[in-house]
Parts: sequence; structure tokens; C-alpha cells
Amino acid sequence: MTRWPTINCLTKIALTLGFAFAGARAYGEISNTEAKKTVRWILNEHREDLKRHPLPLFFEFDERRESKGMFEFLFIAYSAHVHPEERVLRTGAPKTTVNVMKFSGYFPALPGMTTDIFALIACHELGHVIGGAPKASIFKEFPQASHSIEGQADYYAASKCFKRYIKAHPVARLNVDPGTWGLCAQQFKTAADIQACARTIMVGEGLLNTIRPKDASNSKDVRFTTSLLIDSAPPPTEMMIDHPEAECRLRTFAAGALCNQPAVAPISDQNPKTAWCEDSELARRPHCWYKRP
Ligand SMILES: [Zn+2]
Repeated sequence: MTRWPTINCLTKIALTLGFAFAGARAYGEISNTEAKKTVRWILNEHREDLKRHPLPLFFEFDERRESKGMFEFLFIAYSAHVHPEERVLRTGAPKTTVNVMKFSGYFPALPGMTTDIFALIACHELGHVIGGAPKASIFKEFPQASHSIEGQADYYAASKCFKRYIKAHPVARLNVDPGTWGLCAQQFKTAADIQACARTIMVGEGLLNTIRPKDASNSKDVRFTTSLLIDSAPPPTEMMIDHPEAECRLRTFAAGALCNQPAVAPISDQNPKTAWCEDSELARRPHCWYKRP
């Protein structure tokens, strides 16, 4: 599903990564080629999961690396002419809703961006499509296109998609603080799995610090510590659909990293317990966005 369509859309609405940006930056950290290769790898890795999804997913990449304004990176729903069985854009085919993962070169150009961080971003966006419950019909115009909510997209990204990426992209060494390693060792047995857990937490932290606006007056880096996982917040009265704040997102990435259910286990669009870690204090979805049923 990594086609490059010229989409003739009637309507487009954006689910964004949730950050506004001020000012272009002068140098890049990964190339557009690397970014596109990474997204294509992730989409190909999940091709069977995507086939089971009712809506096709298309991928677009805008080569411009400078800031284009408010939203640099979009996950969007379009109305387009799509052949119902071949799931390709076709003039004269019935008009239906499709999902589009749209990137620009701005994110790859951010100082501090790494291929790992970009992969986790792509996993988050994929998580809106196949990340399972809890979902919401975010677009009134497209009630048939319900998407996993922001917290779930993070949780899915760290627990499932990024673990599959890591398995195929191992690193020989990883400098991890002993607290993080110890936490991961409570959940996983093999050195490879413990390292994958720790790497996911570190990359989640890196993601949040790389994409945040650097010139915001009160914007500090978020740092993972084991105490971050103590979920002292009271249960929310309702599910948060939009992006939680950065510290809550890091807690979600960490919980996903610590979830020891198989990354390839089928998940459910209805049941938020299927193949997740709701029974684990360390690895379940945090209260800062998740309301337990
Ligand atoms: Zn999102």
C-alpha cells in the first residue's frame, strides 16, 4: 500500500502529530530518502494487517524540508475514487473514504532526528489506522472512518509496530541507564527483548524532545525516569481523544515498551484488552488519557 496517488479529494481533514512549529531549521538529520525508505518498510511489514482494514491507506511524501506553517505532518482522511477490490485510485470508480499518511521533509530535517525516531513517528500514524481500540469517529464527514485515538496510537506504536521494526533493525550496543534496564528486565526475559524495551523508551523520549518547539518559553525536555510510571493521577471521567501532554505521552510510550504481549498478536477494534497489558501495573495504558471501561 505504498502507492503515490494524485488524490482528487473533495474533503480533507487532519489528524496531526499534535504540535505547531515556529521557524525553519537550517540542517537536517536524516535524508528524505531514508525517511521514505523507513515508512515504506513499516507499511510493507504491516501489509497483511492493512489488508484486513476496511479502508485503503495511501502514502504521500512532500520533499520540501522547510517549515510550511502550522502542521508539518498529517494523517488525513480523503474522499476519493477507489476501486473497491483493487483498492487503487481509479477514475470513475465509486467514491469512498481512504486514509492517507502524508509526510513532508520537515520532520526528517529536524535537528536530532534519527531513523529510529522517524520510524516511531510512522508507527504512531499507522497506529491511527490499525492500532485498535479505543477508537473514535473523529471526522464527522467520515463516520465510517473511525481512528484509534492519540494515546492509543502512541501505545500501539511502542508496543507493537516499533517492536517489529526493532526486530529487523537490531543494534549491537545500546547505552541504557540501569533503572530503565531493570524495569524492562521485570517484563522481559531475553537480552534482545530487554534491549528492545529500553530502546523503545529511549526513542520515545527522543521523539518528544525532537519534535517539540525549541523556542517555546516554558518548554523543557522530558526525561524518562522509573518514577514516571507511578500512575498517581485519578482515573479520568472521560477518554482523552486528542494528544496528551508530553510527559503523559512518554509514560504511554514506556507502558507500551513494557507491554510483553507479542508484537504480532491480532488486536481488536472493539476490545481494548485483547493482546494488550491491562493486567500489568507497569504496562497498562496510563490514567492521564485512558478511561477504563
Ligand atoms: Zn496522531
